[in-house]
Amino acid sequence: MKKKGIVYLVGAGPGDAGLITVKGLNRLREADVVLHDNLANSILLTECKSDCEKIFVGKEAGLHHVTQDKTTELLINKAKKGKKVVRLKGGDPLIFGRGSEEAIALQKAGIDFEIIPGVTAASGASAYAGIPLTHRNLVAQTVFVTAHEQSDKTAPKVDWHSLAKMKNTTLVIYMGVSQIQSVTEKLITAGMSENTSASVIENATLNSQRTFVTTIKELSKTVESNNVKPPAIFIIGPTGDSYKQMGWFENKPLHGKRIVCTRAEDQSQSLFNLLNEKGTVVVPFSTIKTKLSIPKMKIKTLFLKHKFDWIVFSSENGVRYFYELLRNEILDSRLLSGIKVAAIGSGTGKKLNEHGIQPDFVPKNFTSESLVKELSKKVNLKGKNILRVKGNFLNDPLTEGLSSCGAKVTTYEVYKTFKAKPDKHTIKDLLNKKADAVLFTSMSTVTNFFDILGNNKSLALLNNSITLAIGPVTAEELNRRGVKKVCISKVHTIDGMVEELVRIITYSKDKHKLVFKD
Ligand code: SAH
Repeated sequence: MKKKGIVYLVGAGPGDAGLITVKGLNRLREADVVLHDNLANSILLTECKSDCEKIFVGKEAGLHHVTQDKTTELLINKAKKGKKVVRLKGGDPLIFGRGSEEAIALQKAGIDFEIIPGVTAASGASAYAGIPLTHRNLVAQTVFVTAHEQSDKTAPKVDWHSLAKMKNTTLVIYMGVSQIQSVTEKLITAGMSENTSASVIENATLNSQRTFVTTIKELSKTVESNNVKPPAIFIIGPTGDSYKQMGWFENKPLHGKRIVCTRAEDQSQSLFNLLNEKGTVVVPFSTIKTKLSIPKMKIKTLFLKHKFDWIVFSSENGVRYFYELLRNEILDSRLLSGIKVAAIGSGTGKKLNEHGIQPDFVPKNFTSESLVKELSKKVNLKGKNILRVKGNFLNDPLTEGLSSCGAKVTTYEVYKTFKAKPDKHTIKDLLNKKADAVLFTSMSTVTNFFDILGNNKSLALLNNSITLAIGPVTAEELNRRGVKKVCISKVHTIDGMVEELVRIITYSKDKHKLVFKD
């Protein structure tokens, strides 16, 4: 019997990807087809199965919307083919989201459907700006209203006159940026006090969130002078002032800062997560790509040929690709039994943990020199058989250092790195908007960055923002290229870099506290 299709109308929440419900996320992970638009955070799509068909039904810059009829038709056709379809919608599907039109069309076509609620923009904005929608002493009712009816002649009209007269009320206005002047005029003319507290929250729940609290009289001027753009939501009512005390989100140390990350994309997730937590607007500008090497000798043969005492990893990639090769040979961590494992960096250690390996040795400082120095103090390396798992880089201070201590080092290349080719749009976006900081996590990120952008553009960008290097070797390369001031992370890890960035940005007025390398 043919599998029966189903459509889930899922609320994605207003922006922050973490605000989707557990149920919504599970449906997304199982979906065969996802229809999504601009308001749902596109990061959520990375949760989909690799063979999930993703169809964009929003508005491309400068292009037209996919019509509502076309969207509904797609939902029906995909479900008729027996697919599990998710219609991912910004906020809540049934609050100004046209979810009901889609649900009714599905019902008429005899398609099974479920509706999974989402955090609507009003709730998201209220929580993240610290402006409550109700309040025991001040507000007894909350009204969600659209300003869109102003331009949509077929929509039912909002009774602004009555709304203006309501006492002890919070008024939340959706879709109001282009209409706010006429809306506020109507409210004031109908009797709302000019001094009523009024706020606008742009990009609510995203790290680019901006909140302005003013009065209803000044609201449209505030929108204009601060160039507030959709999506933005207005909260009008007596609780606006609590933003000062309860507005936690915009107080994060790196809130709204644009931070460019040049690291290979497949290695960047932990960096993105850390930066995101601190409030930054992450600008991915990956300069490196990596891929699996096909070594001449199989791992099984290698381990039969040598009896290794130690195996040394210096990057997450090394671990990741080593295990990919193991898997390809239908082997696993048991191959390492009896062999000691050394790792540079906490990320490398964590990656090993994922495979059930607890490294025997991690140097205090995360550099090749430290590993050699500290390990040789602990262990007599003379005559020891060491397997060094690495990428395709030519010079390897680790191999040299271990060999100079008398170890017999066998290198095994498990991955190759090459220069990324960002598309024109990504490059234009990087050059046109101001960056607060650019992060370099290895010498090759520097070399590739300059190759991709050219010398002049690279220097113009870097000399106008904070340039942060993970360690001295990377900083050296930046200096050699002519970058005037380079900050170096004291701890040479991703965590260390993020901490350093917080320190620099928080204390940027306190120049003497910075570690600059001129
Ligand atoms: N179904 C959605 C609303 C869609 S209508 C929900 O429940 O939130 C689109 C309007 O929602 C925008 O014009 C804006 O007023 C509001 N909105 C959506 N996301 C927003 C965000 N991140 N910040 C501020 N307003 C947002």
